[in-house]
Amino acid sequence: MTWESVIGLEVHAQLRTRSKMFCGCATRFGDPPNTNVCAVCTGQPGALPVVNRRAVELGCAAALALGCAVRTTSRFARKSYFYPDLPKGFQISQYERPLAEHGRLEFATGTGERSVGIVRLHLEEDAGRSTHDAAGGRTLVDLSRCGVPLAEIVTAPELRTPDEASDCLRALRLLLVRIGACDGSLERGSLRCDVNVSVRRAGESTLGTRVEVKNLNSYRHVRDALAHELARQSEALERGEAVRPQTRSWNDAAGRTEVLRDKEEAPDYRYFPEPDLPPLVLEEAFVERVRAELPELPLARRRRFERDLGLPQRDAAVLAARGAAADLFEATASRLAAAGVESPHRRASGFILTEVLRDLPDEGTEEAESPPPVDADRLAELLRLVADGTISNLAAKDVYRELPAGNERPAAIVAHKGLAQLSDAGSIEETARRVLAEHPDAAARFRAGNPRVLGFLVAEVVRRLEGRGNPRLAAETLRKLLAGEGEEGSHG
Ligand code: ADP
Ligand code: MG
Ligand code: ZN
Repeated sequence: MTWESVIGLEVHAQLRTRSKMFCGCATRFGDPPNTNVCAVCTGQPGALPVVNRRAVELGCAAALALGCAVRTTSRFARKSYFYPDLPKGFQISQYERPLAEHGRLEFATGTGERSVGIVRLHLEEDAGRSTHDAAGGRTLVDLSRCGVPLAEIVTAPELRTPDEASDCLRALRLLLVRIGACDGSLERGSLRCDVNVSVRRAGESTLGTRVEVKNLNSYRHVRDALAHELARQSEALERGEAVRPQTRSWNDAAGRTEVLRDKEEAPDYRYFPEPDLPPLVLEEAFVERVRAELPELPLARRRRFERDLGLPQRDAAVLAARGAAADLFEATASRLAAAGVESPHRRASGFILTEVLRDLPDEGTEEAESPPPVDADRLAELLRLVADGTISNLAAKDVYRELPAGNERPAAIVAHKGLAQLSDAGSIEETARRVLAEHPDAAARFRAGNPRVLGFLVAEVVRRLEGRGNPRLAAETLRKLLAGEGEEGSHG
C-alpha cells in the first residue's frame, strides 16, 4: 500500500517596516531586550492602536505578487489567549475578512514546475519572543517583538511531497525578499513556517486528518519533519489506528516530531472585531499604485532570461534567484552588447556565476539583495579585456579581486600588475617549438589521435611565458607545428 502526504503551509513573514504595526516603537532586531516597548504594544489600559500605513503597503504588495484579490475593506479582530509573551492577552489579527484571498504561487522543483493556491494573506501583530531554558532553566521574555507587523500567508493543501513543500517555501521567501516585504531570515525568525500534513492512500481524493507541525526554521527541518510525519501517520493507519488531530513540534536532535497538544484541547480564541480600529478601507488607487511599483518577480525574470536571453535553465534560475546579481548581469551584458562584444549574455553570466556569486550571501535573504561588490561599468570593462584577448580568463579573476577595494579601472590594474597576455606570435612560436622538442612523447600521442594532450602542451607554453602566454594563440601555434612536423615525419 502506498501513502501520499497532503501538505499546506502557514507562513508568518515579518514586514520590513521601521515601526511596529500599531505604535511607533522600532522593529529593530538585536536591540537590548524589552527596550522597544510602549503603552500600546504592551496593552496598557486606554492605549489606542493606529495602523501602520507602510505595513499595509507591504502586505498589499505581497498579496498582489501572489496573485491574490485584495479586499477594499478588511477588518481587524482580537484573538484572545493567554501566554507570557502576549501581555495584552489578545493578538490583533484579521479573521473573517482578511486583506487578500485566492492567489497562486508558481514555483520550480527538481522535477518541473508546480503551483499552489494561496488561500489567504492577512495582517497581524507578532507576539514577544520567549527564550526557553535560559538563565538557570527559566524562560525569559523579550517584549520588543510584540506588535511587529506580520503577514500570515496560508497555502491550500495542494503540496504533495516534503521536497515540494520546501521548494514552495523557498519560492515564497524569494518573492517576499524581492519585493522588499520581508528580510527573509529563517534563522532570525523574520520568516517562520508551520506545516500542516495529512496522509491518504495514493490516488484518493478525500483529505485525511491533519497534524500541524509548528515553527520550522530551515528548509531541511521542513523536509525532515514532513518525511517523519508521512512515515509516522502512514504506519499508524497501516496498524488500523486513527491519526489524531494534533499540534506537534520538530525535535531536530531526536529526528522526530513531538506532541505539543491535541487539537481537542485547542484554545477557543473567542475572535471578535477589534473595537479600537475601524475597518481597513483601501482605495483602488492605493492598490493600483502598489501594483505598479512591484518589480519584475523572480519567476518572470527566470523565464525571460531563458527565453529571451538564451541562458541555460540552471543559470537563469540561479541568477533570477538573486535580484542584485541579476541586475548586475543585465547591466553588464547590455554594456558588452553596446560595445559590440559577441555573446554578451554568456560572457556576463559566466563570470558572475563563477566569480561574483562566490562571495555573496545565500539567495532569499536581504543581504543577497544588497549590491554586489563591483559595478556593471567596471565589470563590463574587465570582460571586454578578456573578449579582445588582452588578458586571460585566469588573469580576469585576479583583476576582479582587486576591483572592490579602490576605484581603479580594470585596464589600470592589468597594467600595474603586468597581467596583459603575451600575444606576440614570434615568442609564442619559439616557446612552442621548445616545448614540443622537450616533450616528444606528448607530441607523438597527439599525432596518434589523442587530442587531450594539447591541453598539457598549451599549459606548458603558457607557464614558460610566466603565465601570460595567450592560450588561444598557443593552441593554434601548437596545432600548426604538430601538423607540420607530422608531414615532415612521414617524409622521413
Ligand atoms: P487553522 O486556521 O485552524 O490552522 P485552516 O483551515 O486555515 O486551519 O488550515 C490551515 C492549513 O492547513 C492550510 O495551510 C491548509 O492548506 C492546511 N490543511 C487543511 N486541511 C488539511 C489536510 N487535511 N491535510 C493537510 N493540510 C491541510
Ligand atoms: Mg493554523
Ligand atoms: Zn510600542
